[in-house]
Amino acid sequence: MTLPAQACTLIATLNQSGYEAYAVGGAVRDMLRGKAPDDIDITTNASPEQMVDVFSSFRTIPTGLRLGTLTVLIDRTPFEVTTYRTDGTYSDGRHPDTVCFTSSLTDDLARRDFTVNAMAYHPSEGLIDPFGGQDDLNAGRLRCVGEATERFSEDALRIARLLRFMSVLDFTAEEATLRAAKELCERLTLVAAERKRVELTKALVGTGFEAAAVALPEVMGQLVPALRPCIGFEQYNPHHKFDVYKHTIRAVQNASNDLIVRLAVLLHDVGKPSCFKRDENGIGHFYGHPAVSRAIAERQLKELRFDNATTQAVLPLIKAHDIDLPADRKILKRRLQLLGKDGFERLLAVKEADASACRPDSVPPDFGEVRRLYKEILDADECFSLRDLAVNGNDLIVLGYPKGPLIGTILDAMLDAVITETLPNTADALTAYAKECWPL
Ligand code: ATP
Ligand code: MG
Repeated sequence: MTLPAQACTLIATLNQSGYEAYAVGGAVRDMLRGKAPDDIDITTNASPEQMVDVFSSFRTIPTGLRLGTLTVLIDRTPFEVTTYRTDGTYSDGRHPDTVCFTSSLTDDLARRDFTVNAMAYHPSEGLIDPFGGQDDLNAGRLRCVGEATERFSEDALRIARLLRFMSVLDFTAEEATLRAAKELCERLTLVAAERKRVELTKALVGTGFEAAAVALPEVMGQLVPALRPCIGFEQYNPHHKFDVYKHTIRAVQNASNDLIVRLAVLLHDVGKPSCFKRDENGIGHFYGHPAVSRAIAERQLKELRFDNATTQAVLPLIKAHDIDLPADRKILKRRLQLLGKDGFERLLAVKEADASACRPDSVPPDFGEVRRLYKEILDADECFSLRDLAVNGNDLIVLGYPKGPLIGTILDAMLDAVITETLPNTADALTAYAKECWPL
């Protein structure tokens, strides 16, 4: 395991002043897994004032100093250096009421959530691992440091972090840790929506998402309440072997690794339970569910404080997830008109994921011909939006049409005629068509 030079510099600087210092937490975990760490946190027995002193010739940002964290910049890369700390009692189920600085590295490691996140590393001393983190890492196992129910009761965010790390690391949870997370998952109501969103977002793009979400449906139901009615909801349909939740989770795992696609897949069927009907043969149907899913998803994404751009990219995919995508140029141009280029490509991904997760033997649909036609439409620069139309609103005003809603009506009709290939996309043809249908 080799620590990047900048982190070694920070540790050496503290050591030279007589303080202990170690890389800690996620960076150690990731390096042991052979993955370059995203960021490296340093822990030290130097007090906040002593750190400020030691790093007086460095650029520093004192934002977290009250809680013992000094951000030190080396070549513009920020490192968080934190005084060994223990956390006091937790009365809000989320934040410690007080933090205490300590002189013991082991005490600092003991406050951390999982054993794999509770290791420290020093370039010459090697690994410091008082809680068996390396064994758990090698076994692909997440285990709370100490008693799981106690740790999850202190800070409910750790329950969401468990699901996230199970997904991202593709790890399982040790039995007592899993049991405690299920038992205490309702405490996630104490966690701010933004924090839930962050953990959900990370979990969604993990390689172990399906296994994590199947192991912890209660936790998923807390993070995404819209999914709760889907859990265990049987479909009574020969095309569907799985309940709505299991189908959804499997489809997410099969989806391309793009957050917008995965969010759309996660929420594409949330309207199914409320649209469920069984016909005279006992077969289940869900007529109209895409629009209902869309409406529920809109509320859910808002509740989780997703940004508007993400939400507006996700919702049309949910609404459109069941529409046909035949290998037909005109229909594909209609779909492009509806969704735009990015949306169209994502819809292909959503549909592939959806169809691949209906039964254990599902094979994804073959969109080869659709993709070929799509590429042809793009290569030929064909028109499928008002933006591509050879005539715009101003042109119509210059021709003498009055400003107002009529302009929009004419443009829509022109676009329609071009997409259905009844008119070529040229200014002459389009103006002639306008004059004929809407004489001045
Ligand atoms: P990543 O940065 O890849 O998301 P990480 O493990 O570094 O993962 P951070 O949120 O950066 O996670 O936290 C750094 C370290 O702080 C963790 O490795 C863990 O030791 C500790 N930690 C973070 N959040 C908590 C928490 N809620 N409870 C206990 N320890 C925590
Ligand atoms: Mg980190």
